[in-house]
Amino acid sequence: MIVNADLHVHSCFSMASSKDMLIDNIALQAKFKGLQLLGTGDAFHPEWLKIIENSTKYSGDGIYSKNDCDFVLTTEIEGSKRIHHLIIIPTMEIAKEMANNLVSVNKYKDGRPRTKMNGAEIMDLAKDYDCLIGPAHAFTPWTGMYKSYASVYDCYEKKPDFLELGLSADTNMADKIKELQDIPFLSNSDAHSPWPHRLGREFNQINLEDISFSSLKSAIKNNKIKANYGLVPNLGKYHMTGCTKCYQIVDPIIAKENKMKCRCGGTIKKGVDFRISEIATWKKPHHPKNRPPYIHLMPLAEIISMVYDKGVTTKTVQSKWKELINQFENEIEVLINVPLNKISKINEDLTPAIDSFRKKTLYVSPGGGGKYGEISFDEKIQDHTVKKEKIITLDNF
Ligand SMILES: [Zn+2]
Ligand SMILES: [Zn+2]
Repeated sequence: MIVNADLHVHSCFSMASSKDMLIDNIALQAKFKGLQLLGTGDAFHPEWLKIIENSTKYSGDGIYSKNDCDFVLTTEIEGSKRIHHLIIIPTMEIAKEMANNLVSVNKYKDGRPRTKMNGAEIMDLAKDYDCLIGPAHAFTPWTGMYKSYASVYDCYEKKPDFLELGLSADTNMADKIKELQDIPFLSNSDAHSPWPHRLGREFNQINLEDISFSSLKSAIKNNKIKANYGLVPNLGKYHMTGCTKCYQIVDPIIAKENKMKCRCGGTIKKGVDFRISEIATWKKPHHPKNRPPYIHLMPLAEIISMVYDKGVTTKTVQSKWKELINQFENEIEVLINVPLNKISKINEDLTPAIDSFRKKTLYVSPGGGGKYGEISFDEKIQDHTVKKEKIITLDNF
């Protein structure tokens, strides 16, 4: 069976997470987004585990079900050098045991616990418990594995089960790195709120025998990921090198010359685009035989927000989003499959934008320094690549 799975979200117990990140809300939104399998996130947090136990039905083999939505236990953990790892866990008992034994000062406070263990130690722990493990948002500048290491093997000593691309990267970018050729890629939302432009903004289409931890494990290990769906990478908030205070996009070479200090006094963070160019083996992607396609998305709510020039969480945008979802089942259907003449019967204003999205002619002003990229009709770019002259240098601030 083909299943759409978003395996990295955060509960209401994670720092900077919405109080609405509760099982009922996540399950409802997942349905609208066309997802069948979700990671619970925060599976080392005792309060969150209690909520999962109380608000889902156990379907066996590590799966907790709420209405049409199934959950598998996952957590993100911050190890030494502030690197984030994603762990997929077989059962509640194992999650509890791992959490009890974890040496962490904040494990009861934050859904994403911090530990002093390094990547290799965290991997050994995960393997002892039959979990799956890989770097979360591997290329991002604050907490991605590649910000500290030039090789995944320097971090883990062994091959991880997967690598999570993160919102600012895609398969075309990551397949420039030779050591990743035999590592499966995951694309997950890392959502901190159930809003439709957050939850499921990236997901994996996986061929599963059935919905169970064992099938998921075997699918990830045996190249059964059929497609990665994710943001156009320059929409990601760390795609370009940029200032974390004023969000100016800065030429990475000039940023380096200025010791990563912006004119505004802020700190400049290296973009995922540039980091990948530093560690890349090839200038062009070399896709291995088993690499599934990467299908680029833009959140439908952000497209609606652009057309009506209203904030993405406003009533106008949310009600127009809901109108389409009610008619056509889920967001992926609306974005990719529903014929335009059918969409125009529900909302004529939106049809040109969805047509443009499908033809890849929407303009993206790229994200960087912690600010998401923005969609507009203003200028057309090809293949979503950012032209060099779009980068503002420190000299022409
Ligand atoms: Zn993270
Ligand atoms: Zn600045």
